[in-house]
Amino acid sequence: MSVRFRPELSAIPNYQAGKRPLPRLDDVTAFKVSSNENPYPPLPRVQRVIAEAAQHVNRYPDPASVELRAAIADHVALTPDQIAVATGAVALCYQCAHATAGPGDEVVFAWRSFEAYPILTSVSGAKPVPVPLLSDGTHDLPAMARAVTERTRLIFVCSPNNPTGTTVTAAEFTDFVDAVPDDVLIVLDEAYIEFSEAEDAPSAIEVVNQHANVVVLRTFSKAYGLAGLRVGYAIAAVDVIDALNSTALPFGVSSVAQSAAIASIADHQELTERVGELIARRARLTQSLQNAQVPVTASQANFVWLPLGSATAAFVVECERAGLTVRGFVDEGARVTIAEPEANERLVAVAADFVAQWSTGVAEIDRKPM
Ligand SMILES: *Cc1c(COP(=O)(O)O)cnc(C)c1O
Repeated sequence: MSVRFRPELSAIPNYQAGKRPLPRLDDVTAFKVSSNENPYPPLPRVQRVIAEAAQHVNRYPDPASVELRAAIADHVALTPDQIAVATGAVALCYQCAHATAGPGDEVVFAWRSFEAYPILTSVSGAKPVPVPLLSDGTHDLPAMARAVTERTRLIFVCSPNNPTGTTVTAAEFTDFVDAVPDDVLIVLDEAYIEFSEAEDAPSAIEVVNQHANVVVLRTFSKAYGLAGLRVGYAIAAVDVIDALNSTALPFGVSSVAQSAAIASIADHQELTERVGELIARRARLTQSLQNAQVPVTASQANFVWLPLGSATAAFVVECERAGLTVRGFVDEGARVTIAEPEANERLVAVAADFVAQWSTGVAEIDRKPM
């Protein structure tokens, strides 16, 4: 007899992490540009703080992350009781589901978006309700509002959206929140917000101060370059934060991660300069791809989205051959992280060649709407 697992689990696709062994190529450096990691190692001062904190790991971490929550609160101009921290924003996504949704409930999200949403919804026992993106890769917020039923308990809005890089505007988001019953929790997932230059973005602080049912998620994994340490945070009204804390794994955020995150906030200025450099690379990369007739959306995140439709799988293979591990979604498109200049330049070369050779050219690429 085998173990009787919950039936929901059999419906869950295996999480397709970007991490795959890099191809062995004799003459070129391979780059993993599939997981939206920051190409810069931690700042030297943050590395020293990590080494120092490592000397005390015989002790449990502060379970309430008091200092870190105070530092974040200071940084976003809110109070520590409006902040929860966890092992990455993805853990907070799970906690939002555990706190609100179970069997018989529904969780609404745009699709395609962050791959964890349907998985964590199924794990909670609730039903995933994916709402297709518009053909330009943006959220169809009116359609998402219409998808809400009396069973809906949780909604994910991802801005900038992974993998299309598109954002929602403050006005659209306000209309959306107004259209949704205020006992439904709305997650605004801002994992990439530091890379966004959109001027009409919702203000997380205003949103949280005005709406008791909105939680904003952020992470130290992407802009702050601490993906390997696992730390992210939620900002929301106090009772939402309390519910998230009730569903947290005890002692989840390690003392090393807490110290590194505090040091990173202190070195915010230097990190912002790095983010600025990545934004400049994104602009150059997007322009070069456009010049080469490669389909690409205007991204506000640290990756670009190439809506290659049915050509995607072949493109991923071409990239692999050239030493670039990209994230392909079969028949939809490829997501490629902004990385070292050499990696970005190689992407342009591979994509330009690919598009020129694919059948009779770019017109033959079946550009399905996302
Ligand atoms: C990367 C990512 C996260 C979570 O990252 P963590 O490493 O768990 O903090 C959350 N949401 C989206 C959309 C992401 O792409």
